[in-house]
Amino acid sequence: MSQVQYFKAKEIAEGSYLIQYAFTDKENTCCYLVIGQDRAIVIDTMNGYGHLRAFCETLTDKPLYLVNTHFHFDHCAGNFDFDACWMHHRDIADYYDSRISTPEQMAERVKKEAFPELVDQIEASDMTAFTHHIPVYPLYDGDLLDLGDRTIEVVWVGGHTAGSVAFIDKKTRIAYTGDCCNCNTLLGFGNSLPVETYLKNLLHFHKFEDQFDIMYGGHEVQPPTLIEEGIELAARILAGTDDKAEEPGFFGTQTYGAKHSTFPLREDGKTFNMTYNPERRFEKAPEPRVINFQKRTRF
Ligand SMILES: [Zn+2]
Repeated sequence: MSQVQYFKAKEIAEGSYLIQYAFTDKENTCCYLVIGQDRAIVIDTMNGYGHLRAFCETLTDKPLYLVNTHFHFDHCAGNFDFDACWMHHRDIADYYDSRISTPEQMAERVKKEAFPELVDQIEASDMTAFTHHIPVYPLYDGDLLDLGDRTIEVVWVGGHTAGSVAFIDKKTRIAYTGDCCNCNTLLGFGNSLPVETYLKNLLHFHKFEDQFDIMYGGHEVQPPTLIEEGIELAARILAGTDDKAEEPGFFGTQTYGAKHSTFPLREDGKTFNMTYNPERRFEKAPEPRVINFQKRTRF
């Protein structure tokens, strides 16, 4: 294993850390460590570069437990250094079905992004390798994560993925929001929920707005007022009065509810924006799942 420092941490409140990659300035992915009196939780594990668990153990000697805001690889790929994880029950099947990279593939990706002086030191053994699945325990809306001196509430904000959640720490007045509500909220994936359901979930999330002053997400930090902007835009999309802006994105052409001036800035000066599938704005009666007993995982 090399001596490359993969992580850096910033204390955002007492015993609460924002963790980012230190080998590059091209990554905006982040995760969090919240230390309670009896135990600590790690919220998401980013892309699996480096060994996050070992890094967190330099910040606390409390027992560490892992929770995920949703199943996407840039929030879960570093899970495999932990003994178990907890995530919303509606994301668990997709989590098991996610593609997992080899340590060699991850090291190649890191080399492309790393500061030039580090490139030769990056090794595959620095990456969090998948060897076997760790147990995944379900979370439900309203669950309370017990840290000893306080609890952190799980709030279901499904939309981006069916099981996206926010974790609200009333003590520090922080909501950890993953990708559930930000300036580029993506609802165009197969696993995303209809805009109608997302709007209901934003209205649910909004009820907690007086419990936090800031939203620390998986890629950005936003004020709680962003939820109201999200409610407004989702309602416009359902009414058919949004901008329906077709723009190129990671996965081909995407439809945004609000037009950008220069991405991610909105033409009208507001901040929240979202993509959606125009065919999946409204809820439909669920199709029965067909179980064919084939192995779902890709490895
Ligand atoms: Zn995501």
